[in-house]
Amino acid sequence: MPEPRELIIIGSGPAGLTAAIYAARANLEPLVIEGLAAGGQLMLTTEVENFPGFPDGMMGPELMVRMREQAERFGAEFVTADVDRVDLGERPFGAWVGNTEHRGRSVIVSTGASARMLGIEGEYDLLGHGVSTCATCDGFFFREHEIAVVGGGDSAMEEAIFLTKFASKVTVIHRRHELRASKIMADRALAHPKIEFVWDSAVDEVLGDKKLEGARLRNLVTGEESVLPVTGLFVAIGHDPNTSLFKGQLELDANGYVVTEGASMRTSVDGVFACGDVQDHVFRQAITAAGTGCMAAIEAERWLQALEPIAAS
Ligand code: NAP
Repeated sequence: MPEPRELIIIGSGPAGLTAAIYAARANLEPLVIEGLAAGGQLMLTTEVENFPGFPDGMMGPELMVRMREQAERFGAEFVTADVDRVDLGERPFGAWVGNTEHRGRSVIVSTGASARMLGIEGEYDLLGHGVSTCATCDGFFFREHEIAVVGGGDSAMEEAIFLTKFASKVTVIHRRHELRASKIMADRALAHPKIEFVWDSAVDEVLGDKKLEGARLRNLVTGEESVLPVTGLFVAIGHDPNTSLFKGQLELDANGYVVTEGASMRTSVDGVFACGDVQDHVFRQAITAAGTGCMAAIEAERWLQALEPIAAS
């Protein structure tokens, strides 16, 4: 077994990197296993305008690079790989990257969440070429275009309303006849002159070779098929927490999010903490993720302090 570190941080979005900055400044020399998709969802955005301290905005990827540099400056170490397996059943906890074993006396889980995809033909091929999961990132490219949003929740309504700033027309495609979104968001979208709704419908296929030309729709009640000619298709059907590694080891809620204890970042396993979108499906903001990352690091530090030194255990 390798020498255990004080702290292993799994995941490197704003939550994991903020935890790394705080833990490194507390001399915990954290090991950050940052993942192959290092930096998290902000790597898929362009301008971030609501992160305090940057009055002129900041590019999402640039913000993540800066957070990483800040963590490195204080002694955080990085492994750029995905964790394949964890063992949170005994201490020191284990995390494996391939055959390489890492051991930590404490662990912070900050593996984030990923946008849900439709699971249909052509969707991934056209991602970034008309298909998008982020209106904030890509809306700008669709000035005066006719585009569509898939979903009936708050995210879909928010994206549809936001996209009316650019697009000439936004069609919301929803699989039922009733929106899941909150009344205020739904009413706003329903009343918007640039937004139309296609109810009871699924997108069966995205059309186009190198760029999106349309979406093949199927009415789920009548079975009738149609083609909606759009150059943009924004998939806004929710997010899934990246918690498959932790199934059976940490308590997860019905939607797969890591359960943390009240206002604390403690998980169901003593010495394991979670922060960011992996445990928050409500706020899902970079700044709240960073805030919970700070909390997790402080809690881990206090928890470690309360343990007996390794040599004596
Ligand atoms: P959500 O509430 O889970 O809604 C997902 C929507 O996508 C639902 O309408 C669902 O249809 C549809 N959907 C799911 N899987 C689908 C599939 N495979 N094919 C087609 N449609 C599918 O997710 P969300 O809108 O991302 O919101 C998540 C949470 O964040 C919510 O609590 C929400 O209130 C919150 N949020 C709040 C705001 C705000 O207040 N400004 C903004 C964004 C998000 P069904 O309705 O048929 O299930």
